[in-house]
Amino acid sequence: MSKIRTDHDTTTEASSDFGHIVEATPSGVFHPTFPADIVTLIRFSLSQPTPFAVAPRGKGHSSQGQALAPGGIVVDMQALGDGRRTNHRVAVLFDEMYVDAGGEQLWINVLHAALEHGLTPCVWTDYLRITVGGTLSNAGIGGQAFRHGPQISNVHELDVVTGTGEMITCSPEVNPALFFAVLGGLGQFGVITRARIRLERAPKRVKWVRLAYSDVHSFTTDQELLISKRTSGSGFDYVEGQVQLNRTLTEGHKSSSFFSASDLARLTGLTVETGSVTIYYIEGAMYYDEDTAASVDQKLEALLEELSFVTGFVFVRDASYVEFLDRVGREEQNLRSAGAWDVPHPWLNLFVPRSRIVDFDAGVFKGILRDANPVGLILIYPMNKDKWDDRMTAVTPEEDVFYAVGLLRSAVGRGEGDLEQLERENAAVLEFCDRAGIGCKQYLPHHASLDGWRRHFGAKWGRVAELKARYDPRAILSPGQGIFPPAT
Ligand code: FAD
Repeated sequence: MSKIRTDHDTTTEASSDFGHIVEATPSGVFHPTFPADIVTLIRFSLSQPTPFAVAPRGKGHSSQGQALAPGGIVVDMQALGDGRRTNHRVAVLFDEMYVDAGGEQLWINVLHAALEHGLTPCVWTDYLRITVGGTLSNAGIGGQAFRHGPQISNVHELDVVTGTGEMITCSPEVNPALFFAVLGGLGQFGVITRARIRLERAPKRVKWVRLAYSDVHSFTTDQELLISKRTSGSGFDYVEGQVQLNRTLTEGHKSSSFFSASDLARLTGLTVETGSVTIYYIEGAMYYDEDTAASVDQKLEALLEELSFVTGFVFVRDASYVEFLDRVGREEQNLRSAGAWDVPHPWLNLFVPRSRIVDFDAGVFKGILRDANPVGLILIYPMNKDKWDDRMTAVTPEEDVFYAVGLLRSAVGRGEGDLEQLERENAAVLEFCDRAGIGCKQYLPHHASLDGWRRHFGAKWGRVAELKARYDPRAILSPGQGIFPPAT
């Protein structure tokens, strides 16, 4: 096991994550060169009288210690393939329209490799410096998911090292139980070492649009129209949205990577004019290339005519496809230079059923968070449930349409902006959802009790426990999720 490092700097680095909330020191960090090294590690663990925990760590961009291994071994997935001059762990097959990507690969690398062939994956998370294995263990959602489903719905095949130390190739046809278990499986059943991901032809450019609303009804009606097939033409290729609380506009940044200072001044004016405590934006993107460049403006104009945003409050940027997809990468650079990236991130992500989104808005945005600290972002956008495969471990609400709501806030201050305050607000939001029977599910979930996990998985719980007993019976994998206590 010479690939294990136990020095202070290495273990300290693997003791925390993007959330900066939970800390847990591993005994060591394992640097595999080949997937077979992970097989060896897991078998070695199982050969011990008390097996040690093994946590694959992609980029460690979880918020609640999900990739930590207290007292166990963290697998630095990014070590796979290290030291080679070319990246042999991303291979695009043009004729078959797929890419084989190592589980440790960053999505930004997958993007660039696919683009060399004029191809692209169909669904993107907002941020691309996270790994294939990390997002497939959750779902991988973003503005394209309404049309293509989450990233887990766009995988043909996986190589997985199970918690029993076997390397298994699986797909919907071969070893389907493992395939569906691992997708959205929170790292509980195996380590993804390769994923075969569907590709489509890549566009060149994007009309990137934001539309402002002062009223939640028009906002959600338009979002739901945009993710349905009811728009004329093919509509937007990407649909997300944001809520701006009053204080974000009055006290937040005076310009952003999308809005100029004068745009933001107009939006602040809108809250005063309408007396609304919240402003909503739909964020849409329409892809185009040389063949469609001549008609894209006309197509966009026709689509905008079907929508009910506040007259005149439409903001359009023209961007390259890569510039658009990598937008949070630029934001990261800005936050890093402002010293605001490596701070606590008590993020709370929820899937809220469509029928209760207006109640959620009233209770949370206009209630609990009405005067909340403005640092961070609140995302809100709908997705279609029929694009999710219920055989997968990932869970969603029951309704045909549900909203992803991300309270993506940073604790950068003292007093009202500190971590405890934001955590109290998150707890109040969850309590409100419980009390009001909103029926939401957490995305990137964190539950402190077994009962919380049982309720999270609902009807899938029995199956999840059964699959755990089959693929990781000693419960050594990804202990930071806190679902299954290690077997003694
Ligand atoms: P890690 O944090 O390293 O690991 C996450 C979990 O997966 C852990 O339990 C770990 O043990 C397990 N794991 C890691 N690698 C593997 C593997 N190869 N096989 C099996 N299990 C593994 N998510 C979205 O869906 N949409 C978004 O738009 C989005 N935007 C984000 C923006 C930012 C700035 C950040 C920080 C996160 C965002 N996320 C988003 C969340 C992100 O997808 C998850 O946190 C994801 O887990 C991060 O990937 P990672 O490689 O850092 O995983």
